[in-house]
Amino acid sequence: MTNPGNIAFLDLVALHAELEEELCAVLRQSLRTAGFVGGPMVESFESDFAKFCEAQHCVGVSSGTDALRFALMAAGVAPGSAVITVPNTFIATAEAISQAGAVPYFIDVHQRTYNMDPEKLREFLDEECSHDELRGRTVHKASGTPVVAVVPVHLYGQMADMDAIVELAERYNLAVIEDACQAHGAKYFSEREQRWRPAGSVGKAAAFSFYPGKNLGACGEGGAITTNDAELAKRARMLRDHGQSKKYYHDVEGYNGRLDSIQAGFLKTKLQHLSRWNAQRQANAERYNELLSGHTDVVTLPYEPSWSRAVYHLYVVQVADRDAVQQRLGSAGIGTGIHYPIPLHLQKAYSRLQYGPGAFPVAEAAAERILSLPMFPSLTAEQQVRVVEQLTAAAQDSVGEPALAVGEK
Ligand SMILES: *Cc1c(COP(=O)(O)O)cnc(C)c1O
Repeated sequence: MTNPGNIAFLDLVALHAELEEELCAVLRQSLRTAGFVGGPMVESFESDFAKFCEAQHCVGVSSGTDALRFALMAAGVAPGSAVITVPNTFIATAEAISQAGAVPYFIDVHQRTYNMDPEKLREFLDEECSHDELRGRTVHKASGTPVVAVVPVHLYGQMADMDAIVELAERYNLAVIEDACQAHGAKYFSEREQRWRPAGSVGKAAAFSFYPGKNLGACGEGGAITTNDAELAKRARMLRDHGQSKKYYHDVEGYNGRLDSIQAGFLKTKLQHLSRWNAQRQANAERYNELLSGHTDVVTLPYEPSWSRAVYHLYVVQVADRDAVQQRLGSAGIGTGIHYPIPLHLQKAYSRLQYGPGAFPVAEAAAERILSLPMFPSLTAEQQVRVVEQLTAAAQDSVGEPALAVGEK
């Protein structure tokens, strides 16, 4: 038996209880038509999700990982090239780059937002790469590898600083593929365009995941690519379906990477609730901020720049002696997570890339101190009060270096 006083890190049961009738209706409709792969349910969800992201096209696929891989391939990333991303992300970001035949090159992140630091991207491109204006090619000088794309990750539900990244990408002729797998509905104020842009509408293409725990989750696996580029959308549609241009006419070798129609039906239903869920997450984040505001000497809060409207896929704080704090919260029945404990450049899977400890000091330091608190739409104020009581007591007691002060850059 679970203790009723326990607070889960993520409560997916409550969310689905609320939707049970609506979701069962979708399932019944699917069984009656037996159109399980492709068809009107997929197209209808794609059209709704494209609208939600203010993008012209949406291509439903079988996971966020496939969305990233197909987006990269459809954008022209080919074997032997390099794609830039960050080390503090879920491994799927880098896996997709490798699966497209390219090599991931990492750039360190901004200390406060945990997202790609445009200044470090600029340094890498200006100092370590050369750009051939005539051929429009960027080459990494030391390895001779062409650099063709950049994948900013909108981590924890907050968009990366896209104006600066897009500007650099334009100058160096790189395709920008957003990893929006944690950022359904997040917004960024573009100074260039003088308007708010949703995740999935800024880059050449974007990848979303509908893994159950994401802000918009399927009841199984799913993903999508959004883009304003009709040709790219067409190539992604071919890649997800064995490279077919029409049935049994294969223009290229592709994959079995489709979104199935039952999941598309579930997602279409859930999408109607997403804005409300995101608003609840934002309200929960604000409440955490208020409750923790007197404790910023021991707990570093998330930072939301004025140009950002984050959707708090995760609410991530920093504490000294994080593992001890996490254990204390666990003993008190409070679930937490670490996203992510080991930056990708230090994972065994990427030892071949030959980065060592110290290569990305900001990402490495954050990995030691970050802690994701319970965050989901139906989290109650009482639960948050209890989380904060336990967290601040544990953080106070744990000895270690002081947390970063709020105003610090
Ligand atoms: C979840 C996630 C992915 C992968 O999505 P799947 O649907 O699990 O394949 C990729 N990148 C990030 C940042 C994610 O959080």
